[in-house]
Amino acid sequence: MAKKYDRLNRPLTDLRISVTDRCNLRCAYCMPADSNPCFLSKEKLLSVREIERAVSAMYAFEIEKVRITGGEPCLRTDLPDIIKVIRNIGIQDIALTTNGILLEDKLPRLKAAGLRRLNISLDALDDALFQKITGMNISNQVVLSSIFAAERLGFEVKINMVVIRGQNEREILPMVEFFKEKGIQLRFIEYMDAGCMNDWKMEKVVSKKEIYDFISRFYDLQPVTQKTYGEVAKRYMYTDNGSQVGFISSVTEAFCSSCTRARLSSNGIFYNCLFAESGLDISKVLKYGSIQEIRDQISAYWTQRADRYSEERNPLVSRKKIEMSYIGG
Ligand code: SAM
Ligand code: SF4
Ligand code: SF4
Repeated sequence: MAKKYDRLNRPLTDLRISVTDRCNLRCAYCMPADSNPCFLSKEKLLSVREIERAVSAMYAFEIEKVRITGGEPCLRTDLPDIIKVIRNIGIQDIALTTNGILLEDKLPRLKAAGLRRLNISLDALDDALFQKITGMNISNQVVLSSIFAAERLGFEVKINMVVIRGQNEREILPMVEFFKEKGIQLRFIEYMDAGCMNDWKMEKVVSKKEIYDFISRFYDLQPVTQKTYGEVAKRYMYTDNGSQVGFISSVTEAFCSSCTRARLSSNGIFYNCLFAESGLDISKVLKYGSIQEIRDQISAYWTQRADRYSEERNPLVSRKKIEMSYIGG
C-alpha cells in the first residue's frame, strides 16, 4: 500500500466514477434540451465487476473517497450493487451525486448497501424555473421529497446549486433561507466551461465572491476549517443557527494545486482532470487483465500528471472538451 503522487506532488485520494452518460433531465448548463447528445451503447457501460476491479486496484494507493456520478446514476438498476462492492473493498467514504428524481424509492437499498452521503442537485425552488432549467416537465417537489426522505433515513445530504447569470440568481436567497432553516448544507457551484453543448460564457458565471457578498447582506458568515486536504468546497457557518453553506469556486478561485481527484468514465476511460482532452483507456484491462496490470497502468498515468486546467483557464484558446455528463461531474 502506497500513495501515488503526480508531478505536482498531489496524491490520488479521490475517485469519481461515472456509471452512465445518460440522464433523465436536460439541464441548460450540462446537456441542454436542444442539444443532440450521442450516448454510449448499453454494452459499453462498465459492469459492477469492472467497477469493483478498478476500485480494488486503486485501493492499494490508499484512495479514501469514491463518488458515484454520471449522467444520472439512479438510472442504473444495479446502483446498490455498485455501492456494495465498493464498500466491501474497504472504502468508507462513498458518496452519490444525483438529480434526485429517481432517488426516493432507492434510498433504503442504497443505505443497506453502505451509502451514507448524498449530493442532490437543485437549482431553484420556483418550480416553473426549475422545469425551465432542467428542460423537463418534472416538478421539483419530487426532488424535495427525495431530500426529506434521505434526511429521515439518516443520510448526510448536501445540495448542489449552479447559479447562472440571467437565469436563477433570484433563487439564491430563497434557497439559502430554505436550507439554512432545515440545517442542510447548500453548496454553490460556479458555472464551469465543461463540454461543448452549453454555450458557456465568462459573463454568465456568478462568482463565489458575488454570492458570498450577497448572502452576507442578510446573514453573518464565519469560515469553517477544512475537514480534509483537497476538500473542494470552502465552507462557512451562519452564526445565528450553526447551519453551513459551501462554495465551489472552480472558475474564480481555482484549487488545482490541491486536486487529488481522478475520474473514470462509464466506458472505462481514466482521466486525470475534469478538463482533460484525452484519457487512458483501461476498459480492456478492466475486463481481461489482472488487478496488478490495472494498478500499473493507472499508476504510470497518474504519476506523469501535471493537469491544472482551471488555474490556467484561457477561454481564448479553443480545446476539445469532454461533456460533464460523460466524464462525471
Ligand atoms: N445527474 C447528476 C446531478 O445532476 O446531480 C450527477 C451528474 S452532474 C454532471 C454532477 C454535478 O455537476 C451536478 O451538481 C451539476 O449541477 C453539476 N454541473 C453540471 N454541469 C455543470 C457546469 N457546466 N458547471 C458547473 N456544474 C455543473
Ligand atoms: Fe443530467 Fe446532472 Fe447533467 Fe442535469 S447536471 S443534465 S441532471 S447529468
Ligand atoms: Fe482538478 Fe483539473 Fe479541476 Fe484543476 S481543473 S481542480 S486539476 S479537475
